[in-house]
Amino acid sequence: MNSNEAQFLLENAKIYMETQSSQEFVERFENLFKLYYGINKIDFLTLDYNTGIFRDFVKDWVYINEPEKQKKIGKVFEEFQKRTDIFVYNDKVCEYKMTDEQIEELIQMKNAESNTVFFPIYSMARTFGVIEIEFKDLRYGLEINKAFFDILHVVFMQLSVSIYNHVVQEHMATGLNFYDAMKNIAKIIENQYELEYIIPQIGEMIDRFISSHLIYIFLKDEKGQFRLFWPANCHNEEIFKMLNEVKNEVIVSKDMRIGIFPIKGEDSNLGALVAYSTIGKLTPNEIDYLVELTKQSGITIQRANVYSEVLKHATLDALTGLNNRRQFEIRLKQETAQSVRKNTDLCGLMLDIDYFKRVNDTYGHAAGDCVIRGIAEIISKTVREYDIACRYGGEEFFVLLPMAKIEDTLAVAQRIRQNIQNTKIDIREAKVKGIPYLQVTASIGINYFDKKVTPEEFYQGADKALYQSKINGRNRVTIYEESMSKSEN
Ligand code: GH3
Ligand code: MG
Ligand code: MG
Repeated sequence: MNSNEAQFLLENAKIYMETQSSQEFVERFENLFKLYYGINKIDFLTLDYNTGIFRDFVKDWVYINEPEKQKKIGKVFEEFQKRTDIFVYNDKVCEYKMTDEQIEELIQMKNAESNTVFFPIYSMARTFGVIEIEFKDLRYGLEINKAFFDILHVVFMQLSVSIYNHVVQEHMATGLNFYDAMKNIAKIIENQYELEYIIPQIGEMIDRFISSHLIYIFLKDEKGQFRLFWPANCHNEEIFKMLNEVKNEVIVSKDMRIGIFPIKGEDSNLGALVAYSTIGKLTPNEIDYLVELTKQSGITIQRANVYSEVLKHATLDALTGLNNRRQFEIRLKQETAQSVRKNTDLCGLMLDIDYFKRVNDTYGHAAGDCVIRGIAEIISKTVREYDIACRYGGEEFFVLLPMAKIEDTLAVAQRIRQNIQNTKIDIREAKVKGIPYLQVTASIGINYFDKKVTPEEFYQGADKALYQSKINGRNRVTIYEESMSKSEN
């Protein structure tokens, strides 16, 4: 080790002693690396188990929206799930204990422009992220030799543990606080009552609060069987076995890794919340919290069920005031029948907001709701008085345009699309710091009701055209053509 390297290690140790926040920690680390090794950048990417997306752990909300990059990190991550005592250098999986020949081989792999090294972020047996360092042009300065990899080994083992501690610590100190979580769960149903939408939100909220364990939500179906509702998958057989045994009481497995918390409605069991610890045990403290959060979730789900029962007879959507899905089905039948009977024109327009998940993920669901409401307003203002605008579901809309030809509908669709693109949607109600407005785009598909087809086929035509708009780059309008149906098969 030369004196430079010794100095580097010393500075490195100081960072651990002196920093409090992970933000500061990462910044100092990056600067140190820049100073001694002339790196381009260093990224700390942790896996979000719900979405399967890697994100920057310091800037908690920044997702990497680059599928290629996600894929690449995913591959490296898989290697680290198998073993944590390795690193990946320019796509090659390497062990720390290398022979001289192996090192020579690595040195030969050196690229002129940039070189990337990946290390795992892990604690105990669990890998939960990846550190990526990009080194600058290696023709200048930096020497890659055995000492270089030895140093990285020591540094990254420490770093990994430290990042893990930072993650856990900050969640406890400043992360979603318990009362916030409780309040948020209660607030979800202010203007939404569909379980498909509510349950993921509850899951995400609890998951953020109890971040070191995995959370699952099961609901009972009509036959009283537990059905996984959130997230998409659960492969743990032990959990299913325990669900078979659960009655009204909380059960925790002998090794304290799995907790089953029945979700209770007024006079029935609605389902169960399951916590599974991948890193150790559920603590008594966490179990207490989970009991309370599950109670609150039960109340919310129960109320949502009551609302949807009451609203069964409603014709308008609670969030936007447009016709709801049920009403749409009715009007679709009426208008197509009328068009056949009177031999009049009828067109349909289907719209889906582009990249809407990002709005939710980046600014929260409340902001997402504001955007949905804003889009509904634009649609209402743009269509003719006798057009029938509906919220078909989520962030999808359908407009029935009686007495309209396809050219008229195309014009309306383009106007809606442009108005959306040009509107700064007010999201102040969602109270996102520093962001009062959002701008989004939408894709549209339109279809002319050819009297030979069924109402469903008419609707599906618009949907297929919409799909074309999406794959052709979004923020555009497409007219349905028969070939779209053929090419699908
Ligand atoms: P694409 O451009 O392909 O349409 O991408 P996208 O991200 O918009 O994808 P998709 O249409 O599948 O996303 C729908 C998302 O809308 C998923 C769901 O979380 C969200 N969502 C559905 N209903 C609501 C709602 O009522 N409020 C909010 N805030 N989000 C909703
Ligand atoms: Mg959609
Ligand atoms: Mg969408």
